[in-house]
Amino acid sequence: MAGLGNQSSAALAERYSNSLLGVFGAPQRVLVRGAGCHVWDADGNQYLDLLGGIAVNTLGHSNPLLTSVITSQLATLGHVSNFFTSPTQIALAEKLLQISAAPAGSKVFFANSGTEANEAALKLTRRNAGTEQAPRTKVIALEHAFHGRTLGALSLTYKEKYRAPFAPLPENVTWIPAGDIQALREAVDHTVSAVFIEPIQGEAGVLELSAEYLQAAREITTEAGALLVFDEVQTGMGRTGEFFASAPVIPDVMTLAKGLGGGFPIGAMIVFGEANTSWLTPGDHGTTFGGNPVACAAGLAVIHTIEKDNLLAHVRETGAWLREQLAGVHGVGAVRGAGLLNAFELLNGSAPKMVAAALDAGFIINATDERTIRLAPPLVITREQLATFIAALPGLLAAAAA
Ligand SMILES: *Cc1c(COP(=O)(O)O)cnc(C)c1O
Repeated sequence: MAGLGNQSSAALAERYSNSLLGVFGAPQRVLVRGAGCHVWDADGNQYLDLLGGIAVNTLGHSNPLLTSVITSQLATLGHVSNFFTSPTQIALAEKLLQISAAPAGSKVFFANSGTEANEAALKLTRRNAGTEQAPRTKVIALEHAFHGRTLGALSLTYKEKYRAPFAPLPENVTWIPAGDIQALREAVDHTVSAVFIEPIQGEAGVLELSAEYLQAAREITTEAGALLVFDEVQTGMGRTGEFFASAPVIPDVMTLAKGLGGGFPIGAMIVFGEANTSWLTPGDHGTTFGGNPVACAAGLAVIHTIEKDNLLAHVRETGAWLREQLAGVHGVGAVRGAGLLNAFELLNGSAPKMVAAALDAGFIINATDERTIRLAPPLVITREQLATFIAALPGLLAAAAA
């Protein structure tokens, strides 16, 4: 194909900067190939992928089953509009309801990304508008929350830097301290339509909320008549060693994306309980691509593999081992996370500097701030692979502090 010749990273980076809008800054590498937990750049260098496309590549790169399922679905039926459905779409919706222990009457809406799933959730929760005498005009989110970049989801996102240039934003959001049950109790009253919570705040640096907090959120929102939305875009689909980090607490709405398609774009909103499904009726929402057969086939292959290969247990065991190893490295501060969504703090030095040094040493990692490194590798990663990173860590810490 024209324009896809074997060019060096430098030549491709130049073409990138001349053709791609600069919202992401300069790309760290030009990647050309992936297999399992490794990727290769245009100059032939190999990297162990400890970020997994930001918690997306559930089954690693070029997984044979995922590849063959996507390929054969595309060769059979690739896209139909939502005037139609396909067996694949129905099967994935049923499977999501099953693994989320959804009560009878629960329903699924498919989108294409995390932010779109949250937009759908916002539209749904807007319908919980109260009455003319007692309107529900507020949405509650948590400090350090990240829910996406489109205007509705951006309204919920805590970082002032992301929001301020695009004011005014559509939602009237109040942020409260994460994990503080008393603050939640005080904030959630009859003026609140919905509360949005990430069970673990991934973009904020893997900040966990306790099971007790999630349960309290369930009780407080029910009592106030507000809808509870769990954003499991990053934490869902086995990432934490359970299908959903919030289990067994059942929200009114859950949003999913990242890991669901194993690298194929798909988002989903699960609406729990028959009463909640009545908020959105024919004509209230839509999408052209959402729920297309190829994306849904990818989701089915991911869930099938997680179950068949007993990946949830693997994620729990491997994650616990990883945290123990990280905590034993001199220079590593706090270690946080669940399953294979983890972060550690540097006692000295700069996390972005460590990211650069790690790339040079053949590891893809991510800095969520100046001091914090996040790891979200494919769920299939082995201890042996992670051990190569642990062995390199003292050198990387030294480079970060230099
Ligand atoms: C990544 C993320 C989103 C946004 O997903 P996109 O697919 O990038 O739109 C929303 N919520 C959480 C918790 C995320 O981690």
